[in-house]
Amino acid sequence: ENSDYILYVNDILGNEEGAKYIIREPLGAGTFGQVVKCQDLRTGATVAVKVVKNKPAFHQQGLFEVQVLRYLNERHDPDDTRNILRLLDAFVFRGHLCLVFECLSVNLYELIRQNRYQGVSTNLVRVLAAQILDCLVVLNEARVIHCDLKPENILLKRTDSAKIKVIDFGSACMEQQTVHTYIQSRFYRSPEVLLGLPYTAAIDMWSLGCIVIELFIGLPLFPGASEYDQLSRIIELLGLPPVYMLERGKQAGIYFARNDDPFSTNKYRFKPREQFARESGRTEAPSRKYIKGSTLTEVVMGYPMSSKLTTPEQQAQERMRRAALVDFATGLLHINPLQRWTPRQARSHPFITDEPFLAPFTPPTDRPSASSLHPRHASIDGYATYSG
Ligand code: ADP
Ligand code: MG
Repeated sequence: ENSDYILYVNDILGNEEGAKYIIREPLGAGTFGQVVKCQDLRTGATVAVKVVKNKPAFHQQGLFEVQVLRYLNERHDPDDTRNILRLLDAFVFRGHLCLVFECLSVNLYELIRQNRYQGVSTNLVRVLAAQILDCLVVLNEARVIHCDLKPENILLKRTDSAKIKVIDFGSACMEQQTVHTYIQSRFYRSPEVLLGLPYTAAIDMWSLGCIVIELFIGLPLFPGASEYDQLSRIIELLGLPPVYMLERGKQAGIYFARNDDPFSTNKYRFKPREQFARESGRTEAPSRKYIKGSTLTEVVMGYPMSSKLTTPEQQAQERMRRAALVDFATGLLHINPLQRWTPRQARSHPFITDEPFLAPFTPPTDRPSASSLHPRHASIDGYATYSG
């Protein structure tokens, strides 16, 4: 059955308090509902309205999205400088929760597609990554985990700008309330979530690592066809997870077995595809590989150079930027979440600051954020869900 509201161009979405938004054109559709470009009939402003499906689970998540955006917008980003989507209004229309946002342009997946999956320049990767990091620094301070960071949820502000905003807080959670275990879109899902371990804000940094490489090469770094395939691609490129993750992960036993090989130094081994399929009863299609390279360095350094870089100086500079990108991504793609860099640490990497990259980066120790010392500052309580 369909729980979407049927939307027509020129229909009016509104509430008793006089809010009136006339539908102009569709902008996107996702699992939560539909997003339409509208005009606010009171102010003339163009806005984006997300009309949430009227199923209770979606409605509840939608209410939390309103609460989390109000909290982030008002308390943690009052000047609108940290690249977080602005929520302008929220109301219920014929049983459907409607979230009114500032209207943005295309998402980064669309940007990659328009670029014919060729990837964007190291410079653009830097500019985009720096802005996402700015948002993640704020989320850390606010103790919010986004939980669904991916190119579709990062939007250009305008078609002709390299300015972005992070959207879709419909899956977000507070760091002290990580109740859901099945989170993140598969290609961007962190090893700790795949293995069924407790998770932290570090899961967003993993997703960011996947995103920066995808922006550069134009294709997802780990395009897993299943959870098993997802893990297998991660291990192929980055090696086995540390033993503690395999011993504490609730799902680890279905993917890993004790290693009987007396000559191996690994306590556990990753089950071969056939064994996993047999034991789990799931059919596992063979993995199709389309990324060239068996290490991050090979993937990035081996990517064809743009023909626009003609002089040896330009090419040398590009190689240095790529080496910086590899080092940056490696810090985000630590399999062990305890080693993964925090947004503050990553922000001072030479790839982001655009300083010469001369040696592998050792991040400064991250000091606890003000809000973690003053938990009341990072409380979402008191943020109303919607008006009217
Ligand atoms: P879902 O939770 O269903 O994924 P999103 O909030 O991610 O919903 O919105 C779905 C899609 O709608 C996005 O990927 C984007 O393309 C489009 N969209 C969402 N918000 C806006 C906005 N403020 N401006 C323009 N397009 C938007
Ligand atoms: Mg989305």
